[in-house]
Amino acid sequence: MTVETPASRPATSSQVDRTSGRHRVVIIGSGFGGLWATEGLKKAPVDVIMISGTSHHLFQPLLYQVATGVLSEGEVAPATREVLKKQKNATVLLGRVTDIDIAGKTVTSVSPLGTTVTAYDSLIVAAGAGQSYFGNDQFSEWAPGMKSIDDALELRGRIFGCFELAELAEDPAEQEEWLTFVVVGAGPTGVEMAGQISELAHRTLPREFRRIDTRKAKVILLDAAPAVLGAFGDKLSNAARQQLESIGVDVELNAKVVGVDNTGVDIIDADGNERRIRCRCKVWAAGVSASPLGKQLAEQSGAEIDRAGRVNVNPDLTLPGHPEVFVVGDMMALNNLPGVAQVAMQGGSYAAVQIVRRLRGEPPGEPFKYFDKGSMATISRFHAVASVGKKVHLAGFFAWLMWLAVHVMYLIGFKNRLTTMLHWAVSFIFRGRSQRTTTRQQIVARTLMARLSATEEALKTQQNPDEIESGETAAADVSGAAGDSAADLGPEPVEGRASTSSAPNRQPETTDSVDELTAAYGDERPEDRDAAPAKQAPES
Ligand SMILES: Cc1cc2nc3c(=O)[nH]c(=O)nc-3n(C[C@H](O)[C@H](O)[C@H](O)COP(=O)(O)OP(=O)(O)OC[C@H]3O[C@@H](n4cnc5c(N)ncnc54)[C@H](O)[C@@H]3O)c2cc1C
Repeated sequence: MTVETPASRPATSSQVDRTSGRHRVVIIGSGFGGLWATEGLKKAPVDVIMISGTSHHLFQPLLYQVATGVLSEGEVAPATREVLKKQKNATVLLGRVTDIDIAGKTVTSVSPLGTTVTAYDSLIVAAGAGQSYFGNDQFSEWAPGMKSIDDALELRGRIFGCFELAELAEDPAEQEEWLTFVVVGAGPTGVEMAGQISELAHRTLPREFRRIDTRKAKVILLDAAPAVLGAFGDKLSNAARQQLESIGVDVELNAKVVGVDNTGVDIIDADGNERRIRCRCKVWAAGVSASPLGKQLAEQSGAEIDRAGRVNVNPDLTLPGHPEVFVVGDMMALNNLPGVAQVAMQGGSYAAVQIVRRLRGEPPGEPFKYFDKGSMATISRFHAVASVGKKVHLAGFFAWLMWLAVHVMYLIGFKNRLTTMLHWAVSFIFRGRSQRTTTRQQIVARTLMARLSATEEALKTQQNPDEIESGETAAADVSGAAGDSAADLGPEPVEGRASTSSAPNRQPETTDSVDELTAAYGDERPEDRDAAPAKQAPES
């Protein structure tokens, strides 16, 4: 175990120079809240330690473009230490925080090398939120969410893989299943995903396939609520729906998803009618659940948490009774502020300013005041909706230009901005998608890792040491195949992620569809080729 202690306490061992004797600010998370907080402390006489489960800063609003082949993962997720290389007072540590001790003022994180305990003088918690399946965690096996680079790459593999398998399928009904894409959740992410899949099917892919007409693909956007983009108001909501329908998206509202499996989704409509949509590709874009670290903070401080697991904070974003602990971004609940990037950025910057004021001996500043710069969502190329203040509600080309400008502005790094604009030109002016590479591991890794965890949990309860040994070897093999990278620990598992903790002894089924989906393309392993019986190319 490594122990990081601030200068005020005796050191045992350290990776971080503590000779400065300065106030230490620990920041959890390298997302919008964490990054903006760190940069806000650039000139402050403090040592900043950012601990994050991922080695990158993720620009989540463009994840759907990674999933649909427009952008590469590097463009939306630059390495955090590269972003912060000029900030001399900042140190970046990879680790998933498992424990915050607010009485002892320490943060415990884990990495493949072990456990690290980092002491702090001030703490900014910006660990964000994960996907929520509203208590139906089993859905995640078949309907990945959209929260991380892993999610986006898995979805990319699934989306493009479905077109490939439709081309191979002989039976028209099966072909239709592969060509039906269901997106659950008609908020900005769901709308953007559905719009992009439809554009793929109608603009990018038609000339590339010989046996299928990709324009016949069905893209269905489902929501239990009665409106698309409900938070944007009636006018923009209706405009968004019309635009989606005009590009071929089938919008089905008041439709509650009650089941998800390999071959489809089950729905109950508002009139109680139950039905099933047969489809292979499902995307879950509904619901978020704050990092479980929020619950820990609440339990220790007496703060309340809301239904989404967000911590109720004081007006200055601190934990009740703990002015040294700030909670910002998607993890915090304050005045019904939405879980959007601007809230996280402004919250991170605000916390940094408060810390600097205290160090200077100045009185606390004004309570946190969110400046709403507006919201926008893109529906298709050349079409977006934007709502700025109470009076400006735009739909169409001008809103799309605004959307472009804002997203380029907030992307990190000049090179990323440049290549992103180039890729947008390729996709929006022309028809191409330059980021279509998919691999078997992209698609199967999550399922294999879930299987591995379940196996490990099951083994812990087994009595037979022989079985445990052979099982462990098998588990290690699966882990290797899944490409578990030590360089990216991923976000902390939250409610709703496939796996593992929610059903420890459950052995996930052998996922035939995953095997089907991946066998046909990607980086097929030589042993598969040897073992597989030769298949006749289907005749067109
Ligand atoms: C697909 C998608 C599209 C979106 N589109 C928009 C949009 O168009 N406009 C908009 O304003 N907002 C959008 N949002 C919301 C916006 O991205 C979030 O509100 C914002 O990212 C919140 O910032 P944050 O810093 O609180 O959390 P995040 O940005 O999620 O960052 C959390 C960080 O914490 C790290 N972390 C998590 N758990 C741990 C742990 N236990 N230990 C260590 N590190 C941990 C993660 O690795 C990550 O670095 C979108 C979100 C998604 C998912």
